[in-house]
Amino acid sequence: MELNHTHAPTARSWIAEANAAGADFPIQNLPLGVFRRAGSQEAFRGGIAIGEQVLDLGALAASDALAGLARQAARAAAQPVLNDLFALGPAAWRALRHGVFALLKEEEGTPGAARADAVRACRDCLVPQSAIEHALPARVGDYTDFYTSFDHAQSSARMVDPAAQVAANFRAMPIGYHGRASTVAVSGQAFHRPWGQNKMPWEAPPALYRPTRWLDYELEVAAWVGQGNRVGQPVPLAQAEEHLFGLGLLNDWSARDTQIWEMAPLGPFLAKSFATTVSPWIVTMEALAPYRTPWRHADEEPAPQPYLTTAANARAGAIDLRLEVWLQTGENRVEGARATRLSQTNFSHQYWTLAQMLTHHTSGGCSLQPGDLLGSGTVSGPAPEEAGCLLELTCGGRAPLRLNGGEQRTFLQDGDTVLLRGWCEAPGRPRIGFGECRGTVLPAIPAPMSSNAQTQEHFHA
Ligand code: MN
Repeated sequence: MELNHTHAPTARSWIAEANAAGADFPIQNLPLGVFRRAGSQEAFRGGIAIGEQVLDLGALAASDALAGLARQAARAAAQPVLNDLFALGPAAWRALRHGVFALLKEEEGTPGAARADAVRACRDCLVPQSAIEHALPARVGDYTDFYTSFDHAQSSARMVDPAAQVAANFRAMPIGYHGRASTVAVSGQAFHRPWGQNKMPWEAPPALYRPTRWLDYELEVAAWVGQGNRVGQPVPLAQAEEHLFGLGLLNDWSARDTQIWEMAPLGPFLAKSFATTVSPWIVTMEALAPYRTPWRHADEEPAPQPYLTTAANARAGAIDLRLEVWLQTGENRVEGARATRLSQTNFSHQYWTLAQMLTHHTSGGCSLQPGDLLGSGTVSGPAPEEAGCLLELTCGGRAPLRLNGGEQRTFLQDGDTVLLRGWCEAPGRPRIGFGECRGTVLPAIPAPMSSNAQTQEHFHA
């Protein structure tokens, strides 16, 4: 994607805080989400983050501030989910970005009457982010989670068997599994520690039905499918990014003691199906254009098959997206201790690009729909401290982490809040942020069904 005036590092907004150094939402970003005033009965509708405000696309679509395709796109976004906007395709997404950019941009000199009216109308459409609540940005029909970090694949395999090699198929295609859309929720999700059949790797089968003891997070990038494709019509790699609306952050919560027991031979099932948290804002592919980087493999790695190869993907298929995981414990909250940063990494480490994931997903004829959600797979970098989950960071629970405030963790405890952050920055470019993806672990509900614990009590009674 070519750079244009909406990427100009010198562009400023008349919304002063959007120009502050380190702000997540400068005028070059303009991510979309769904919101309403917190605690209100208002309908959720689309909005665009700018500084510490949200531009209400419902109100903007009803004004005369936008025209043509930009206004049509704003109308499509003025709904409780953004699926209709996603379905309109890249020309409409671009028109909306460019229209809103023109409205929010600071201009030199005295504005003409039409410009002054448009800016006034735009000002009336602003709502402070501190006063809103979010909903999931789209109706998720299908959710697929990939497995595309070589470092994650290698070190997770070695947790179970120190001699394990990454399976041969990993280097041939982006591996994935079908996740559950029904439990995907927006940042702020709080869920009960799941029950499941679980056992420690050293325990003999069978596993027992009980609350998980190895609850983990996975740091991932969320890719939101924009326009879909028909059944039987794969999306060629050269067109794959035209089918992506934008990116967010995703936490693929995982019950490791269930996963280890259930995963062979068909892949993760209940270990992943109880909760998935996504960030509220979607950073568009156009906003990410200045932060693209080459997609490279070491010389000894096998060349991908032709359908997973283009010059454009090699030149700029990866994204220089910095990622962090923070943990705030229940005790931190009570005692006012700071959250602890558990790791930092970069999305450019992934073995496969998002375009390759989308193309491979459709390569057998599978149809993707607007609003479908793709998880990148855990993002772990080559250094041990760049790991994107606790299984790796604590060496399978053998090396506890020390937290601010003095606590230790191997896996998550009740009351823990995991926070994901992400941003892009490049020399001579503004920083654009992804906001936060936050989720909290609640205690397991007591005995949801006849459990081993109950059965044992029954026998002893
Ligand atoms: Mn995952």
